[in-house]
Order: sequence, then C-alpha cells, then structure tokens
Amino acid sequence: MNRRLGHIAATLALVALALFAARMGNGDGSAREAKKFSVEFFDTFDTLVSFTAFTKDEIEFEGYARVVHDEMLRLHRLFDIYHDHDGLVGMKAINDAAGGVPLSVDASIADLLEIAKDAYEDTGGAVNVTLGPVLKIWHDHRDRAPANSGDAPIPSLEELQAAATHVSASDILIDREHSTVLLRHADMRLDVGAAAKGYAVQKAVELLRDAGLKSGLINAGGNVVIIGPPLDGRESWNIGVRAPDLEELRPAESKLLDVLYLSDGAAVTSGSDQRYFTSGGRRYHHIIDPETLFPAENVRSVTVRHPNSTVADILSTAAFVLPPDRARALIARHGAEALWVTGDGKKLATPGYLARSQLVRSADAAKGGAAEP
Ligand code: ADP
Ligand code: MG
Repeated sequence: MNRRLGHIAATLALVALALFAARMGNGDGSAREAKKFSVEFFDTFDTLVSFTAFTKDEIEFEGYARVVHDEMLRLHRLFDIYHDHDGLVGMKAINDAAGGVPLSVDASIADLLEIAKDAYEDTGGAVNVTLGPVLKIWHDHRDRAPANSGDAPIPSLEELQAAATHVSASDILIDREHSTVLLRHADMRLDVGAAAKGYAVQKAVELLRDAGLKSGLINAGGNVVIIGPPLDGRESWNIGVRAPDLEELRPAESKLLDVLYLSDGAAVTSGSDQRYFTSGGRRYHHIIDPETLFPAENVRSVTVRHPNSTVADILSTAAFVLPPDRARALIARHGAEALWVTGDGKKLATPGYLARSQLVRSADAAKGGAAEP
C-alpha cells in the first residue's frame, strides 16, 4: 500500500456535491427532500474510494462519510503488509513475528484470517493468503520494471519455488479465545490483498446500516457495495463494470464492459489490466496461480455478484485463477453470479448475472452507457 497517498489525504476532504434532489416519504404521510451527495478519498487500500448516499442534508451525509472513512482507514492500517502503524499490531507485525511467539491482535485481524483459512479450503488453494513470499517477488518485479520498457526481467521458476516452501493456510495459527495469531514457520508471510478490500467495504457498509443509512453506495476500486435503491424514484443504481482492455481487441468499444442495475449486495471485479508489467510482448499481472506460481492465464477479468462483499472479493480472485469448470462450480456452490471475459474477449455469464445486466437489455451493451457514481 502506498504511504505517499496516505499522507496526501491524511484528513478527509469532504467535497460533497448535491447532484439533485428527490422526494422521500417520511412514514407520516409528509415528504422531505433527499439529496444525493458524493465524496472520494485516496488514502486507503492504494485505491480510489468513492461514497455516494441520499441523505436529508450535507451534515447527515458528512456523518456517514466519516463512518466509511474511519473504518476503511482503521482496516487499511491493520491489514497493511508493507508498513507498521503507530500503536497497532497489524499484518506486518504478524509477518515479522513468524515462527516466534503468538501476537495479541485486533479482532478484525483474527476474523479476516479465519475467513482466509476457510477460503483456502473452499477454493482448493486458489486463494491463498500465505503466498506472501511469492507475491512479494512479483510485486518487487512490478515496482522495478522500467515504465514503457516492455522488456522487464521476470522472476525465475526456481526463485518462485524457493519462496513457496511454507504456503499452507493451515499453518496460520489463530486462537480466537485469546485473540492471538502466529505463523507457524519463520519463512511464512501473509498477503491479504485478495480479500482485504472486500472485507473493509463490507464492514463499512454494516456500520452505515447500523447508523441508519437507507440509500448509498461504496465503490473501492471496482469493489462495489450497495445499500438500498437510490431515493430518486429509480429502482436501482447503474454500476459500470470496467472493460479489461477490450479496446486492444476491439478498438471501437468503450472502456465500459457492462452496466449492472443493482439495489443491494456487492459486485467485485478482478482484472489483469490494473497492476502489471510487460516483458517480451507478454503481460505479467498481479493475480498469481498457486499451481504455476505465475500470473493466472484463464481469463482477462471476472466480475462476481454476491450479497456479501468479502465473499464476492474472494470469489472474484478464485474465479479468475481456477480453470473454467471449477470456477463455475465454485460460483454456483455459493449461489453467486459472475461474468467472465476470456482471453479472446468473449463474455460468459451466469443467468442470474444477466438478469441485472445491460448485456441483455442491449445487444450492443459494450458500447457503454451511463454509470455512477
Ligand atoms: P484487486 O486487488 O485488483 O482488487 P484481487 O482481489 O483479485 O484484485 O486481489 C489481488 C491481490 O491479491 C494481489 O495484488 C495480491 O496481493 C493477492 N493475490 C494474488 N494472487 C493471489 C492468490 N492466488 N491468492 C491469494 N492472494 C493473491
Ligand atoms: Mg479478490
């Protein structure tokens, strides 16, 4: 995660925009104005986070925005594997203590790691947060790759295999009762990037609901969660699904792959076009197949819909890594819905995905459409 970005936006600048007003019933027969406000911040999870909501006024919106930002920042600091944060025992401290004595941790850390251990079993190892040493090699190569060179060095298989000696999630030892965590082997390292953002957005949304918000949306770099329909008379929000470099395949098409019409739940996209470097005419992106230790090659992107954002985030990474038949079975087993974009640009979707997608409302869907926020 990027420390520089964190400093730029150390204080949340609430640039709330009233875009338009709508009528909202008050239950007592009267009606009051509900206005749409939005804010963006850049200091968590190395990505742009936007929050949009319908509230009675800007003061109310700012209260909800603070809930979102505070929780995202708290979890960003806890889950950061690159930096220590004052007064916190985070993922980096757990990595540094590998093979030593158990550390007392915040309940959110124990919770996320327990989910991650379950995900490892559930996905047959496709989503594996103990791949840290392997992911670090890829991360460092990406960081060092000269911009636009197209010929950056790639890691050797030997180097990757040597980093993968202890990569079983069953070696994450969690004591829920005493809230402690220990990595069994000294060379183990966690990287929770596949689930951390989805988990953080899920927790922020739960706090918003508890605080009484009825209509809103968080989008954290393609990880979207919705609370209720917009209060402007429409039944659903229009959520844009970014196209994974389809213009490279079909230059006439826009950056928008699809528009989803949603009034609840989460939609999460994992793609090969966000973090990568190129070498010898090939793209080396950030989602690694634990079987090969190289970037997964089955598809270009996967978008998953599920009521829970943590589950959707894990499933989107898993469905990106797994071969198509196993990916489909996993999605079906969770009652989730998904859209895949294959290597040659074909779109494959589950029927439930299509039911809320522009892809069926318009034969020419990939040419774009209005999306928000
Ligand atoms: P994004 O971070 O772009 O939203 P994902 O949710 O798919 O995408 O997570 C990708 C991140 O997860 C990578 O940056 C890396 O930190 C980590 N990762 C990559 N491959 C795996 C894997 N097979 N299992 C667990 N984590 C992975
Ligand atoms: Mg994920």
